[in-house]
This record gives sequence, structure tokens and C-alpha cells, in this order.
Amino acid sequence: MEQPVIAQAEEISITSQPLSKKAQKRAAKAARLQEQKAERRAREKEAKKRKRRERAEAGDAEPRKRRKMGGFDQTSFAAQVVIDLGFDDMMTDKEVTSLTSQLAYTYSANRRSSTPFTSLLFTSLNGRTKARLDAINDAGYKRWTNTKWWEEGYDRIWTSKSDSCGGDEDMDAHRASVVYLTADSEEELTELKEGEIYVIGGICDHNRYKNLCLDKAKTASIRHARLPIGRYIASLTTRKVLTVNQVFEILLKWVETRDWEQAFWSIIPKRKFQNKPTDLDASPEGEHVGEDEDQEDQEDADEAELVASNENGDGEEDNQDGGVSGSRPQPVLSMAY
Ligand code: SAH
Repeated sequence: MEQPVIAQAEEISITSQPLSKKAQKRAAKAARLQEQKAERRAREKEAKKRKRRERAEAGDAEPRKRRKMGGFDQTSFAAQVVIDLGFDDMMTDKEVTSLTSQLAYTYSANRRSSTPFTSLLFTSLNGRTKARLDAINDAGYKRWTNTKWWEEGYDRIWTSKSDSCGGDEDMDAHRASVVYLTADSEEELTELKEGEIYVIGGICDHNRYKNLCLDKAKTASIRHARLPIGRYIASLTTRKVLTVNQVFEILLKWVETRDWEQAFWSIIPKRKFQNKPTDLDASPEGEHVGEDEDQEDQEDADEAELVASNENGDGEEDNQDGGVSGSRPQPVLSMAY
């Protein structure tokens, strides 16, 4: 990347010039202010911690409420969303790029929501997906708050001995709480429940692989379900495959409104609602149509000017990682290269 090298060279030539007295004074003042700011931040943090402790001791703690992001209240929904990244070798490089953008959108949407999921777990992180994430913004994803990243597959949720010490029953209980979301399922999701774990397939495949995630769920003997799109949107009655972040944003919207129809209308791109029923009726298996549109969705995620993150990783408030454009959350990774 040429840009940063040039910027660096300019910086060096500027700083290597002798400073005038005035500039020296200015620099000293800036350093002093910086120091004061750091001290102030530390004091504020300490005061916050003290207050939280005092409130907890007084018994009026509100453990599921936290103030974040420019001061608005967030009440988290105690379900976990897992993004299964175990498809790295099935994507083209371009699709891997799309996928990583979708992951950034997903994280950003959760962070900005008034009703976020308690945590986002990314599993099977490996290959080009990992390499790309590592290369961006000094592996900024590692500083995403309330996220976990496993190199292992999501089956560790119920197979890991250290996480489940209660033996087979505990393992079964864990497995029973997992639902793999896939457009190919015959089952329809009716509601989200706290305590459950929803898996989204972390793949961008332009519909090359039908039943991929459904088969994976069946092999693992876990539940699976599709979003109830056709039930609420008359023009979208057959299989409709959305992107990772669209599915996640629909789930978030449902948690916020408890209204699927509203969730679908606000997230599914309007172009998908056009001229659909007759095309779809002609396809007895609900075979996917409108692939160009899906391609567009996946490219939507690429198109975005991805903004450098100011994530500080300490879970404290900051409001600088990109604004909101319309209803669209902005991703938080710098992917400009
Ligand atoms: N061929 C892939 C499609 C990937 S789309 C597959 O076999 O699933 C990315 C992910 O979004 C899917 O794996 C699924 O988890 C989720 N998804 C997309 N559309 C969905 C829908 N209509 N209902 C439920 N989940 C959906």
C-alpha cells in the first residue's frame, strides 16, 4: 500500500525540522493536555466502577442494562448468535471478501442495537477468512466487544468438556438449545427465545450450494429452521436466501419489535419484492431464483466505504466508529486496500 508510506515520509520530514519556540510551547501544551485527559479518563473510569460496585452492594444493580454508545440504553437479549465460519475453502477470494464485510456489518448492527444479543460467537475461524480479518486494521476484530472467536467448530458448544462439566445430560441440553438457521429447512422459526443459540452459516456462495447448511445441521443432529418470510410477505413465498448480516439484522429487529413483518420489511432490500410470485411459482422445488439480486446484496456489503474503527476493546463507551447512514449500520473495520 503506497498511501501510508507517503504519509509516513511526510510526517518524518515534518518532525525532523527544528521546532520554533512557539511550536515547542504548543507541543508541550498539547502533551500536558493529553496527560490531563488520560488522568481524567482514568478517574472517570474509577468513579464508574465505584458507583457500579456501590449500586451492586446496595442491591439495586441492573445487571442486564448497560449504557453504551453515546449514552443510549441497551437491554441485551440473552440468546447467543453463532456465525459458523467453517466454509472458508468453498468460497472464491471475492466471496471471502464479501463475507468479512458482512461480518463487520453484523458486529456493528449488534453494537448499535438497543436490544443486542448478549454475545456473538464466530467459530471455525481459519484460512483466508482469518487471514483477511488479521490483515485489516491491525486485526481490529480482536477488539470487537462481546464477541468470541474460536478456531474450533461450533460443535464445541456441546462437546467441550471444560465448558460443560455436567456430563452427557449437559451436552444434550446444550445441543438441544442450538438452532441452525437455513433457508432450506422445512421448519419455520416462530420466535426467538432467551437461552437458545442461533447459528448462521458464515458463507457467501451466490447460491452454489443448496442444502449445505441444512445437511450440516442434520449431520450434527441439531434443530434447523428458516425465517418465516413467506408467512408474512406474500410475494416472497419460496426459498429466499439472504446474506449473513441481513439475517442477523432481521433477528435483531425481531427482538426489538417482536414483529416479523416489520423486521422483514425493514431489512430485506426492496428490489427483492418486485416481480417475484410468477417466477417462483414456476419452480416446484422452490429452486432459488433472482440470483443476480442476491449477488447484489452480497456486493452491497463490499461497496461500503468501510470506516476505521476506534474500538478500544475495554467495553467503555465511544461513539466514533462510523456513523449511521439511514437505517444502515456502518461496518467498523477499515478494509480499504
Ligand atoms: N448455501 C448457503 C447459503 C448461505 S446464506 C446455505 O446452505 O445456507 C448465509 C446464511 O444465512 C445461511 O447459511 C443461513 O444461516 C442464513 N440464511 C440465509 N437466508 C435464510 C433464510 N431465509 N432463513 C434462515 N436462514 C437464512
